[in-house]
Amino acid sequence: MKIKRMQSIITILCNFHNIRLTWKKSDNAGWCWQELREIRIAPIKGKLDFWVALHEIGHIVADVTGVLQDHPVPEYMSEYAANIYALNMMAQLGINLKIYKEHARRYQVSVIADAINKRELKVKNIHPEVAAFCNIDFSAWNRAKNIRVVKNYERFPHSKYPMQIYVTK
Ligand SMILES: [Zn+2]
Repeated sequence: MKIKRMQSIITILCNFHNIRLTWKKSDNAGWCWQELREIRIAPIKGKLDFWVALHEIGHIVADVTGVLQDHPVPEYMSEYAANIYALNMMAQLGINLKIYKEHARRYQVSVIADAINKRELKVKNIHPEVAAFCNIDFSAWNRAKNIRVVKNYERFPHSKYPMQIYVTK
């Protein structure tokens, strides 16, 4: 898919959903402010930027209430909803999802690890749908003092190597 097409899809989606869109210059990390319906993203130079942009839009438009009734919605569930939104949009546009599914999965696992490290979430309470999406053995995280997830994709987005998880008990 051409860069211009991806850029215009993001603009159209933001207009349609009444989201204020600001282009940022420096890095490729996205940013979103749900209450103000505002996102800040890097200019789209490739599919990974496109992915990040869709993920941030997902934070604003994805409905998590159907997935979970918890209030407030835990951060890892909000990330899950944004990931699913971005993957669904890419699938509808006919983009091969292989790399982005992996990217989303590794990111999701690291967000869950953060929540467990901060004692905001217990392993047994991880939503089953999200656990299935992550597709790792979370029982190895029981009674962990700290979990560290190394995400190779940040430096090597096309890496085929699985993420590395270090569990300290
Ligand atoms: Zn996010």
